[in-house]
Amino acid sequence: MSRFDQARIGTKAVWGGEKDYLVHGATQVPVIPSVAFGYDDMDEWYDVAIGKKKGHIYGRNTNPTVQAFEDKVKLLEGAKAGTSFSTGMAAVSNTLYTFLVPGDRVVTIKDTYGGTNKLFTEFLPRLQIEVVFCETGNHEQIEKEIAKGCTLLYLETPTNPTVKITDIKRTAQCAKASGALVVVDNTFATPINQNPLTLGADIVIHSATKFLGGHADALGGVVVGNDEELVEAIYHYREINGATMDPWAAYLLLRGMKTLDLRVKRQTENAMKLATFLEQSDLVESVFYPGLDTHPNHEIAKSQMKGYGGMLSFAVKGGIDTVRELLPRLEFANRAANLGSVETTVGPARTTSHVECTPEERAAMGISEGLIRVSCGIEDPDDILADFKQALESVNATISTN
Ligand SMILES: *Cc1c(COP(=O)(O)O)cnc(C)c1O
Repeated sequence: MSRFDQARIGTKAVWGGEKDYLVHGATQVPVIPSVAFGYDDMDEWYDVAIGKKKGHIYGRNTNPTVQAFEDKVKLLEGAKAGTSFSTGMAAVSNTLYTFLVPGDRVVTIKDTYGGTNKLFTEFLPRLQIEVVFCETGNHEQIEKEIAKGCTLLYLETPTNPTVKITDIKRTAQCAKASGALVVVDNTFATPINQNPLTLGADIVIHSATKFLGGHADALGGVVVGNDEELVEAIYHYREINGATMDPWAAYLLLRGMKTLDLRVKRQTENAMKLATFLEQSDLVESVFYPGLDTHPNHEIAKSQMKGYGGMLSFAVKGGIDTVRELLPRLEFANRAANLGSVETTVGPARTTSHVECTPEERAAMGISEGLIRVSCGIEDPDDILADFKQALESVNATISTN
């Protein structure tokens, strides 16, 4: 094993996947926007075109800057193979469409990302693919449904916005026994805090738009796995379907990933501090964070995560009226539908993660109209706590004088 192989994840985040793509003595991977790659030797061109020899042919298939991005993610997740996409949703949909055919049965959880949930409720059923939704974190129900027949187990943990936790090892083991494929969306945890491949997943998906890029300025998605044939099949679907990552996005995401370890550690620390602080506030009804003892699956989170992540949510008393007063009073937070960026980002669940649902549907999922999702940034935690404190106190004062 080389010294690089033994290096820790923070070192791999900085150095990983870059060396093969440096040119002219540059220390940084260049953006190569060229759509086509030329060959004077007709035999070499043919060999590359049929995959016998390494190289690039056409930008929809592969691109050096994009490949450097893929190589870095592979190193971070400890995966043998990987491929990338224009967005996280392209990664999710292309993976599902690669493997599923009419008559298949998918077992999943109720709290997947909104776009993923739409694929399950709207698009897969019209191809006669059955999707079964289990209560997130109800392992007995998931196992029971897998036993009834399962082509693919699709998990996401922690989930959006109430950060529910599912035991990856336990459910993956059960799915494997039934011959099912195990796919895990690891966007919320990031490779710093959780590595589903070591817990039994076949395929790991990230919306690179979020924590991997970390600066809310580039869209992207990525899929990694240890079975090269599986990943190759997804790549093949994508090269034909055409949801290719742009080289400029790859460059920004690659640069962002160099600081992934630093950022996510700080975001995780900030989230723990903010969750603990919010639990003490009079205006707060409940706080959801896997790092809190009060979280129903705290023990599972502890066993499968290295850190509890930068995402949390909390419900305020007074519902949406309080949300309307509270969020504009925060100085160090973007009120936006994004997450995973260096800036703290807040939004009501009803406007962000679950905007497609009716209030009744949200209530059935345990998402109150007063639920606020927080993606913690990398700011100084004392400033963030002080900011939430002043906002909560000021809202409290307004309510009590009314
Ligand atoms: C945002 C997100 C996606 C979709 O990613 P896009 O890059 O927005 O397409 C998928 N899964 C999770 C968990 C997400 O947060």
